[in-house]
Parts: sequence; C-alpha cells; structure tokens
Amino acid sequence: MNNKKSVLFLKLFFLLLCFAILYSKVNSDVGRYILILMVLPMALLFEQVNLILFIVISLASVIMSVFTFGPITYETIIITAIFLVAIPMLSVFSTKRSKLKINDGLKKKNDELKFYKEELLNELNSLTNERENLEKKLERIIHFYIISKDLNKNIYVPRNVANTVLNILSSRQGVEYCLITRRFTNKQGVDRLQMFSRLNEATKKKWYRLINGNKEIEDLQKPKIISTLFEIEHKPVVVWPVVAGLNWDFRIFLVVNSEYSQLYIEEGEIFIPHLKLSAKRIGLVYEQEEKSRIDGLTGLYLKRYFIEKLNSEYERVKRYGTNFYLIMLDIDYFKKVNDTYGHLVGDKVLKEIAHIISNSVRPGDIVGRYGGEEFIVLLPSISKEAVTDIAEKIRTTVEKTTFKENNIEFGTTISIGICEYMPNTKPTKLIDNVDKALYESKKCGRNRISVYKQQ
Ligand code: GH3
Ligand code: MG
Ligand code: MG
Repeated sequence: MNNKKSVLFLKLFFLLLCFAILYSKVNSDVGRYILILMVLPMALLFEQVNLILFIVISLASVIMSVFTFGPITYETIIITAIFLVAIPMLSVFSTKRSKLKINDGLKKKNDELKFYKEELLNELNSLTNERENLEKKLERIIHFYIISKDLNKNIYVPRNVANTVLNILSSRQGVEYCLITRRFTNKQGVDRLQMFSRLNEATKKKWYRLINGNKEIEDLQKPKIISTLFEIEHKPVVVWPVVAGLNWDFRIFLVVNSEYSQLYIEEGEIFIPHLKLSAKRIGLVYEQEEKSRIDGLTGLYLKRYFIEKLNSEYERVKRYGTNFYLIMLDIDYFKKVNDTYGHLVGDKVLKEIAHIISNSVRPGDIVGRYGGEEFIVLLPSISKEAVTDIAEKIRTTVEKTTFKENNIEFGTTISIGICEYMPNTKPTKLIDNVDKALYESKKCGRNRISVYKQQ
C-alpha cells in the first residue's frame, strides 16, 4: 500500500467510525437523515482535507456526541455535523485560496521568466549578428593585410604596384574589371594619364575620352560612383582616389555589379590609406634611387648608371637593328684652370660645361659624367651628320663661353671623340673606341672632333 492510499484508508476509517458512533446515538429519524446528508459533503471533501485535521475533527465530533448525556437530539447532530463539515470546508477553502495565490505567483514568475527568456533570445540574436559582422570585418581586414603585404613586395616600381592592385581587385567578388591611371600632377597635356588595365585599345580610348580633363575625377577626395562613366559599360563605376602628396597620384576605377557599388565605396575607405602609404614609399625609394644615379656637382648621370643604360641600349639596338652613337668629351688643360683659379672655380666650369652639353643634345639622349672632367653622351637612332652637328655645337659653345673670376675673364675648350655602334662590338669595346677617338683629338691639337675609324 502506498502512502496516498493509506492516508485515504485512515480517513475513511475515521469517517465511518465517527458516522457509526453518531448514528448509534441518534434517537430520531430526522437526526439520522441529517447525519447521512452531512456525511455526503464530508465524503466529498475528505480527499482534500489534511489527514491530521480530519482525525482531530472526527474525534472531536465523536467526543462531543459521546459526552452528551442522554440520547442525541437532532439539534446536537446538526451542530456536530456543521462542526464536522464547516471546519474541513474552511480548511479546503483556505487551501484553495492559498493554492490560487501560489498559482498567481507562479504565473507571474512564469511571465517574468518568459519575458527574460525573450530578452535573452533577442540579445543572443543581436550578438550573433554582431559576431557575423565582426567576422566579415575581420575577413576584410585580413584581405587588406594580404593586399598591403603584396603591395610592399612590389614597392619599387609604380607599374608593379598598379599590376598587383589590378590583379587583386579584378578577382574580387562583384568586380567586372579594374583600371588604374597614374597622373603626373606637374605635367600637362595628353601624356598626363598612364593607364594600367587588360583592356583593348578601343575600350581604353573610351575611358581616356571620359577621364581626361574630368574635373570631378581630378578633384575627387573620397571613393565615389562617377555617373558620367556609366555609359562605358552600363554598370556603376566606383572611383578610388589615391593622392599621396607626391608629384603623381593614382585613380582606381572599378566597374562593379550594382549590388556591390556601396560595398566598394566602403572598401575604398579602408583600402586607400594602404595604397597611399605604398605610393609614398615608392616615391621615397624612387627619389633615393634617382639621387644615387646622379652626380651631385653636375646633375648628370654617374658612370655606373650610364653603363647600365648603354648596355640596355646595346641589347635593344641588336634586337631591332637600329643604331646609336657615343660622344666622349674632355676639357682641355683643365688642370691649369684649377691651378690658376682654384678648385672651386674649376667646379663652376665643370658645372657650366655639363649644362652646355645637356642643352645641346636631344630629349632622349643620355648624358653622363664619365670621370673627373670627362663627359659621355649616348645618342640613340641618329645619323652621323646629326651627331657631328651636335658635337660641333657643344665644342663651339664651350669655346665661346667666357668665365669670370676676380674680374679676370678666361675661356676653355674641349676635345671630342665620336664612335658609332657596331654589330658584334661589346659596349666596353665601344667605350674604348670613343676614348681612342678623343685621344686622337687631343693628339691633333685639342679643341676638335674626331670620329673613330676602324683600323
Ligand atoms: P688634357 O687636356 O690632357 O685633358 O689636360 P688636363 O689638365 O685636362 O688633364 P689631366 O688629366 O692632367 O687633369 C685633369 C684635372 O681635372 C685634374 C683634376 O684636378 C681635375 N679634376 C678632376 N675632377 C675634378 C673636380 O671634380 N673638380 C675640379 N675642380 N677639378 C677636378
Ligand atoms: Mg682634360
Ligand atoms: Mg681627362
């Protein structure tokens, strides 16, 4: 028998006991009817009434009846029955009320918990969203880190940077293609733009027509969609300005699918500072390299760089079957100038003669300081007459130039050797040949031109 059943059994026992005793003592029929009627609600309630309370009530009612002397009247039965029913009813009522109260409290607590659960779920959702956004941002940062690392590998030549950026951006999601222009801020005219792309000439021309002289693109400070460029591909074009404070800057044009245009405006904000930094580094490296190629006194190329240029021109001429000439120049009796007027005056003379040479040659010719007071010029694709004319122009200009020191005027002259490129004659041999021609001029009285003749 389990606990619940034994409690029921006990209650039943006491109910019957109480009923039997009372019944035996009742002396009227009315009393018995009332007793039976009163036992009914008691039977209905007895499951819910506490066992102890039940026993106490039953025993109390029995004791009350038993100790009533003489036969029990129906009034006594009514009073006993009321006592027997009222207390359990009150107890059940109060239990129900407290149960209701507890239920109310539980409901409230449940509602509260539901509310907190909802709040927590909302928070969890927003945290998940935030995490997804952070992951996306992280992915982008890593991507840009890789780009900037790639860029730094290629910081030496602007063309490399452009090609690296071109490769990376062209393969980005939503990008149709990419075009980069380099603009020299100090130059004007048609060669202001250098275009890097994998486009055919016709498309490049279309771009050039719309980009060149476009004020909106030139003045651009932030990434933006330029509506005038829409007509090229009928897709949005996001333009990134990369202005690094150098004498040139980049513009990056991204032809993108419409849904990606906003993304690439945002990416531009992150990407441009990286590019600016790389562009600045390129500028500095370039400046340093240029400085290391140039002679500080005359502003001409140093011998080492001149030889590099001569070698590459030699290879080019060998491949394409064109020609070039070399001119070597040496100041006559320069030691005397130094001895008479001092080293500083000698320097001024060197500078002036370097200036005369630079001004006499064509824009593509390369002028170098070959030794102390020796100069050398490489003149690509030129006739013998033209090169002789240039040499003669230099010689006569130097001859006519007067220098002044302490109100004393003096002049100087130069001797010149010329030699032509010859197939199968190495650059070192060509220099040897032009030196021989110069020696010839010296030997024949200086201030003259000699052309190398093969023996
Ligand atoms: P030649 O007509 O045979 O060439 O006679 P030269 O005196 O010009 O030739 P030499 O080789 O005897 O002397 C060259 C001089 O050039 C010697 C050197 O002091 C001077 N020189 C070399 N480099 C510099 C320089 O940077 N500044 C100055 N002031 N003089 C220099
Ligand atoms: Mg000399
Ligand atoms: Mg010399």
